[in-house]
Amino acid sequence: MIAAHQSSWLLDPSERLNRKNAFDASLVVGTAKFNRETGRIDKPRPPFSQFIDPTTGLIQLDMLRPRNCPVCDAPPKQGLFVKDGFRHVRCPNCDLIYVSLILREDLMIKFWREELSWMSVLTSAPQMSLDKLKYAYGLDLVANYLSGVKLLDIGAGTGSFLKQAQERGWETTGIELNTESVENLLKEGMRVIVKPLEIADLPSKSFDLVSMWEVLEHLADIRSILQEAKRLLVSDGLLLLLVPNAGSLVTRVLHEKSDTFGGHSHLNHFNLKSLTTLLTNLNFEIVELETVVTELGTINNHLNFEDPYLGEASHFFPFLTPEFIHQNLLGSRLLVIARPLTDKEA
Ligand SMILES: [Zn+2]
Repeated sequence: MIAAHQSSWLLDPSERLNRKNAFDASLVVGTAKFNRETGRIDKPRPPFSQFIDPTTGLIQLDMLRPRNCPVCDAPPKQGLFVKDGFRHVRCPNCDLIYVSLILREDLMIKFWREELSWMSVLTSAPQMSLDKLKYAYGLDLVANYLSGVKLLDIGAGTGSFLKQAQERGWETTGIELNTESVENLLKEGMRVIVKPLEIADLPSKSFDLVSMWEVLEHLADIRSILQEAKRLLVSDGLLLLLVPNAGSLVTRVLHEKSDTFGGHSHLNHFNLKSLTTLLTNLNFEIVELETVVTELGTINNHLNFEDPYLGEASHFFPFLTPEFIHQNLLGSRLLVIARPLTDKEA
């Protein structure tokens, strides 16, 4: 087991909850207000919806490729629902909800290079201020286990995590493919690699921390990217992941109505079991695993027969508290810190 030099807030559950609640949009801003202020409600109709074949309700076949479960390689069986033309299935072995068939690789790469619709959401003032607290939480968590300062952030996006890490003395490198994001990162003087990690050809054991904030859900081949991340980590280095939680209360209540589902870009929906299986199979030891972000506003809106994302939550159900949500790992994101086991330990 890794040696932790834990600060007091980590060991005090109520202090830890306070810090989580501070970046929970539902609690701080209110769901409807947050969605309006960040521009989430102005999103264009789902990309690729013009390619839905009206006879099948699915994206036309020549744009798609087949895919087994990206965690355990079992073939797709149990269909759950179709959203925006993409079939979502659940793996009977590891519980992962995933999209199969997915977009062809060339279409996916083109989409990520050119995608801009989410940029104004990410750079909106309320999003930036909550992200800042979220990143501070992650960096504080990591600081309890690590003394090294070399960081690789995969899917660096706006660069706000890199910037915050730099302010704390981290030596940062970002990986990013989106053309506009890369331009912005370079303008800010960030070191950025404009290649998928698998072909970036970085030297082994060159980073103390590899982070992926809401990235793993977007990738077709998650095992090879995590194996590559493992190769890049020093022996006592850490991997930090934040992913949507398919086992969250909000997702269990809303099913396909949840904004987390949309098959062109969110390909993998982890819960506790599938994420643990994935990391354990790749010989990572989980050091921290918890949920963050309750989406209590969304849940209460839905329970009140209001629009989950734009309702005014005319009534809050008192038994639904942040404590209850996080104690039962029902928050809408899973935050994991893991370390690679050495060959001896594995
Ligand atoms: Zn599976």
